[in-house]
Amino acid sequence: MAHHQNLPAAEAMAKLKAGNERYLDAASNPGDISKQIRQKTCDEGQTPYAIVITCSDSRVIPESIFSAGIGELFTIRVAGNVMDHHQLGSVEYAADHLGTNLVVVLGHTHCGAVGAALTSNPDGFVKYITDEIKKAIGDEKDELTACRLNVERSVSIIKEQLKLTDSSDLKVCGAIYQIDSGKVEFLDTV
Ligand SMILES: [Zn+2]
Repeated sequence: MAHHQNLPAAEAMAKLKAGNERYLDAASNPGDISKQIRQKTCDEGQTPYAIVITCSDSRVIPESIFSAGIGELFTIRVAGNVMDHHQLGSVEYAADHLGTNLVVVLGHTHCGAVGAALTSNPDGFVKYITDEIKKAIGDEKDELTACRLNVERSVSIIKEQLKLTDSSDLKVCGAIYQIDSGKVEFLDTV
């Protein structure tokens, strides 16, 4: 697959967990955004150790949540962290060309997109997002359970569409971010 050196999925997950621990009591992001790392990643290219698919919500900042800097996370953001061909193409690119071995679908508490799918029938382009979430949650009424079901559906879509098996290097896991405590709960092990 990739010629890049990159972390195996389990090591990438451990790094995310450690970064999240540091974030819980942090007042600013300790990630490296220095001139030096900007130049290094420009000269040598990027080798992000994890792909994070999360919501566009302004309270959910992947690089902060995982104490990450430039070149560490390949981030895909769309309201409700739903999947379509554009997101799948982004995942495939990072896995095939950057050697990234871990995908995290990161839902979050108090998600407006999940809430809208639970309580209303939006029109306009928002409908494209809430329709996807409705497919995931069915008749579920509990917000947190709905959030989890929506994450699990995105995880399943990635595995199916990219034809991943247990022996694939690329691992996919779900996670939920609590917007008040800052804690990330990982739903799967890799
Ligand atoms: Zn959201």
